Amino acid sequence: MSIPDSINSNFLASGKQPKGVIVLTVVLFLSFLWAFVAYWAVSSRAEILQGTEQVLRRMDHAVGEQTRRQFAMIGVFLGVADQWITDNPGADPRSDRRFLRLVENFRERTDRAIDIQLASEAGQVFPLLAKAAAPPPALAIGDTDYFRFAMGGDSGRFFIGAPQVSSASGTWGIPVAQRLTHPQKGVAAVVASVELSALLALYEEERIRPNGAIVLVRRDGTLLARAPHDERLIGKSLVGGQLYREFLPRAERGFAKLDRTATDAMEKYVAYSVLSDFPLVTVVSTAAGDVFEAWRRQMLVIALLGVGVSIFALLAAWRLTRVLHELSVRTAELQHLATTDLMTGINNRHHFLSLLYHEFARGRRYKAPLSLMVLDLDFFKQINDGYGHAAGDAALKMFASAATDCLRGMDVIGRLGGEEFGILLPSTAVDQAEAVAERIRVAVAKIAIDTDLGTVRFTTSIGVAQSQEEDESVDVLLARADAALYAAKAAGRNRVVVRAS
Ligand code: GH3
Ligand code: MG
Ligand code: MG
Repeated sequence: MSIPDSINSNFLASGKQPKGVIVLTVVLFLSFLWAFVAYWAVSSRAEILQGTEQVLRRMDHAVGEQTRRQFAMIGVFLGVADQWITDNPGADPRSDRRFLRLVENFRERTDRAIDIQLASEAGQVFPLLAKAAAPPPALAIGDTDYFRFAMGGDSGRFFIGAPQVSSASGTWGIPVAQRLTHPQKGVAAVVASVELSALLALYEEERIRPNGAIVLVRRDGTLLARAPHDERLIGKSLVGGQLYREFLPRAERGFAKLDRTATDAMEKYVAYSVLSDFPLVTVVSTAAGDVFEAWRRQMLVIALLGVGVSIFALLAAWRLTRVLHELSVRTAELQHLATTDLMTGINNRHHFLSLLYHEFARGRRYKAPLSLMVLDLDFFKQINDGYGHAAGDAALKMFASAATDCLRGMDVIGRLGGEEFGILLPSTAVDQAEAVAERIRVAVAKIAIDTDLGTVRFTTSIGVAQSQEEDESVDVLLARADAALYAAKAAGRNRVVVRAS
C-alpha cells in the first residue's frame, strides 16, 4: 500500500542535482584534459631542448677536437722547421733541397691542405722554389696583426691571422706565422696557411641542416671559418654579438640560446667552447625554429584533437542536461498524476494513505501525537439527484478547497473515494484537531453553489480520532475515525464527533 519514498524525493524531479553533477564532471574532465595537454607540451618541449643541448655539445666537442688537431699539426711542423734551420746554420731554407723535401713531405701528409712559406723580418714572403715553376708574386704581410705578434712574441709559438685569399692559388686560407729562433739568410719567420675549404669540408659534414652552422672564431672575435660558407662573413668581428657579450665572458664552454646570431640574424641554440691549446672558439648551432618544428606540428594536432574532444564533451553534456530536464518534467507530471485526485486537485486515496502510514510511523518514533479526520458529505446523493451530477462535482471541488483553506501547511488532505475525504494532522492532539474540524464544518455549511435549478447547499459530518500508543497499525486509527464519523451520521449529521480511544 505504501509508496516508496523515492517518489517524493526523486532527484530527477528536482532536475538540479544531475545538472550540477554533469557540469562538474565536464569541468573536471576538461580541466584534466587541458592540464594533461599543457603538461605534455611543456615536458616534451623540455625534453627536445635537452636532447638538442646534448647533440650540440657532442658536435661542438668533435668539431673542436678536429680543429685542434689541424692546428696542433701545424704547430708540430713549425717547430720541426725552426729546429731544422737552427741545426743547419749555413743552409738557405728557401732553396735547400732537404728543407724543401721536409716541407713537401708535410704537405703530402696533410693532403696539401696546408701551405708552407718563409718570410723576412719585414714581412716579405718568400715562395719556396720547389713549389711552382714560375714563382708567384711576393706577398707582404708585414703589417698584418698575426705577423707583428709573431715577430714580437715567443719563437716557440705561432699566431693565427684572419683568412685571406692566397695570391698563388686564389683560394681562401687561414694564415699563421712563427718567428724563427735563429733567423737565417734573411729568413725570419715560417708562415703557414690552412686551406679554408679543407676545414669547411670537415664542418659541412657535421653541421645540422638546413639552418645549422659551424663557426670557427679567433678568441678576439674574428670569424675565421663558417659552414655554410659566406665570404662576406670571413674576418668579421663577432665581439658585439650576444655570444661574446653574454656567454663567453661567463664560461669558456656552454650551451646558449641566441635571440639573433651575429652571422645570420636567426634565433638559434648554440654549443660553444674555447679550444684548450689555441685562442680559438668553435660554435655549433641549430635554428630554434627547426628544433621545435616537429613539436609544433604535433602540438597543433593535439590541440585540435583537444578542442574536438572538448566541443564533443560540451555538446554531449548540454544534450544530456536537456534530456534530464525533459525527463524531470515528465517525472514531475507522472508523479502529479500518480498522487493527485484529478477532479479536486488534492491527494488521491493511494497517496493520502501512504502519507498516513508515513506520518503514523514517524509519530510513533518521535512520540508525537497524530490526529486523523474522516469527512463525508451529508445526503450527497440528493444533490446529484436534485441538481445534476455536474452540481455534485462542483460541490466536491468547493468542499476540497474550503477544507484546504482551514488547514496548516503541514496538514494533509486527501480524497478517500466518492464524497469521502481524509485529513491528517501531524503533531496535533485530538482537541486541536476537533477545533479544526469544527472550522471546516462551519466553512462547508457556508458554501452556496448557484445552479439553474437553484442554490445548492450542503453539510459534512466529521469523525476525529488520535493515534494511541497501543494502536498496532494505522488501520486501528482509521477504524476509530470511521466509527466517529458513523456516530456523527447517526447523531443527525452536520457535526463533529471525537473518538479519543
Ligand atoms: P449520507 O449522508 O448517509 O452520506 O448520504 P449520502 O447520500 O451522501 O450517501 P451515499 O453513500 O448513499 O451516496 C453517495 C453518493 O455520492 C453516491 C454517488 O452517486 C455520489 N458520488 C460519488 N462520487 C461522486 C462523484 O465523483 N461525483 C458526483 N457528482 N457524485 C458522486
Ligand atoms: Mg455521504
Ligand atoms: Mg459516503
